[in-house]
Amino acid sequence: MDIIQKIREAGVVGAGGAGFPTHIKFSVEKVDYLLVNGAECEPLLQIDKYLMREKAKEIIKVLELLGEKIKAGEIHIALKGKYKSEIIQLEKVIKELNSRVKIFKMETYYPAGDEQQIVFEVTGRTVPEAGIPLDVGVVVTNVGTLVNIYEAIVDDKPVIDKYLSVHGEVKNPIILKTPIGITLKKCLDAAGGAIIPDYKVIIGGPMMGRMVEKEALEREVVTKTTGAIIVIPEDHYMVHRNEKSVKHIINEAKSSCIQCRMCTDLCPRYLIGQKLEPHRIMRSVSMLENDVDILKEAMLCCECGICELFACPMQISPRLVNIHLKGIFRENNFRFEKNDKELVGNPMREYRKVPTNRLISRIGMNKYMEFSETEAVVLDSKEVFIPLRQHIGAPAKPVVAIGDSIKCGQLIGEVKEGLGANIHSSIAGVVVEVGNSITIKK
Ligand code: SF4
Ligand code: SF4
Repeated sequence: MDIIQKIREAGVVGAGGAGFPTHIKFSVEKVDYLLVNGAECEPLLQIDKYLMREKAKEIIKVLELLGEKIKAGEIHIALKGKYKSEIIQLEKVIKELNSRVKIFKMETYYPAGDEQQIVFEVTGRTVPEAGIPLDVGVVVTNVGTLVNIYEAIVDDKPVIDKYLSVHGEVKNPIILKTPIGITLKKCLDAAGGAIIPDYKVIIGGPMMGRMVEKEALEREVVTKTTGAIIVIPEDHYMVHRNEKSVKHIINEAKSSCIQCRMCTDLCPRYLIGQKLEPHRIMRSVSMLENDVDILKEAMLCCECGICELFACPMQISPRLVNIHLKGIFRENNFRFEKNDKELVGNPMREYRKVPTNRLISRIGMNKYMEFSETEAVVLDSKEVFIPLRQHIGAPAKPVVAIGDSIKCGQLIGEVKEGLGANIHSSIAGVVVEVGNSITIKK
């Protein structure tokens, strides 16, 4: 079977982002660059580093296979220069295998792991507004996805487990390898549980992750894209920032936006040359100008949060306004029109990168930075709830029914055509419920 077909059958999706189906991303004839995002976009995240240390051989081998498949001119793993052990491990394997893969060392800034920043750093090219890296001859994938691709191609293994980290206010911060569909509560318990009574949980990184109540952990499950669970006190600064409504932010903008344009000057998308100027959006929204030409720039926002959590001296949140505007544009089927205009990075970009340490201090996350390079603990579960949509595109259609006996790794949800990804069982057992998720019990 062709390797793209194997990736498709195995249900591989982008493990670090929104879950874009990987077989579609790699269905290209030829590219200038194949880039690996090993920079852990968000502060505190650990899994890419763990995989680069523990699965270096698999990563380099699969990169060679993929590079040949898509006729990549160059292959680079972009990571932070401070990842010393990971660099040593990868370079050792590159030498052993006589591989053409190169290591690209980045500074420790946020959001170094935003794929458009990586494209710019390695190639000097700016992805067009509303475009994708392929528009400038680049395919970007991440470390976790590569490990899944390796297992799909070499071991014929579908995506049924996930590495994630559990940290923050927990007894023992930990890296886990879990079956997909296990509850987040079980993951938290494996880390010894929360050490404070009143807490909230961030699923993902502290800047772009989703915040949920502690009660939600019983029903929220690990999916193909879950990377971390972070427990923070209920009265943490990030909780207060997260609770502001759009109406409240617009009122704040009306009364206190001083049009200093710090949000724009530090915006990473603006700095690579795209036309995203959040200070103009804030002015238009607060003055009720409703200038669509300005407001549509919100669609270019990658939601990194630098404007609200680092740049703005008045504690206003352009990011949340952009998310709100994007929702309105989506509801009205309005798209940002892509054009072929060649964009050039801002000459001040080098001096305006936000150092990760300063950002972590600013958002009150320093105390959660300690994380030793431990082995992953393998977690099992007697029951899993496997969502049929863990990816961009249509949900998979169930191909099993209540009462069916299922093997571990068996196909349980299928996407025959279009955008989507197959879903497989992460444990052996019996199907007890079929809905938006499939519940399987041992
Ligand atoms: S940084 Fe804050 S105060 Fe300055 S222009 Fe942006 S939203 Fe307004
Ligand atoms: S969240 Fe703010 S800083 Fe980040 S891309 Fe969007 S507008 Fe720019």
